[in-house]
Amino acid sequence: MGTKGREIVKVDVKELVRQLNKALADEWQAYYQYWVGAKVAVGRMRGIVAGELMEHAKEELEHAEKLTDRIIQLGGTPLLNPEQWKRECNCSYDEPHDPNTRKLLEQNIKGEQCAIQVYRQLLSMLEGKDPITYHLVLEILKDEVEHEEDLEAMLEDMKTPLE
Ligand code: FE
Ligand code: FE
Ligand code: MG
Repeated sequence: MGTKGREIVKVDVKELVRQLNKALADEWQAYYQYWVGAKVAVGRMRGIVAGELMEHAKEELEHAEKLTDRIIQLGGTPLLNPEQWKRECNCSYDEPHDPNTRKLLEQNIKGEQCAIQVYRQLLSMLEGKDPITYHLVLEILKDEVEHEEDLEAMLEDMKTPLE
């Protein structure tokens, strides 16, 4: 990043990079949880649920990419080893050992709620101090709010008895 670009960042850059890397660990695990969940899904509305999980997986991967680009721009290094994902994450990985669609939805809703909390906190840290990262985190938060809503709506549909 250029001199002036760095100058307008009014937070501790080292700490910011640390937080962005923690979010990056979350995103990779969210990506995999969605991706593998879509593959193993069984039960009611399987096709629809699997399709949505796969779409979310792709979006989590885009989040990972945005975070990584910003980390590098800030002069940091993105996590280089998957072993760090478990150590650095804010949200825990929820193994989809029960592949039932209802259970998968519940697990991923929990994940989204954790993500929303994490990005909300990051926004508070960045407000008025780093407009670029703030904007990036806001974009991601918007997606996570949408993800939670999509999954909760599907879970609701599932609970509605067939006529
Ligand atoms: Fe995400
Ligand atoms: Fe998400
Ligand atoms: Mg969606």
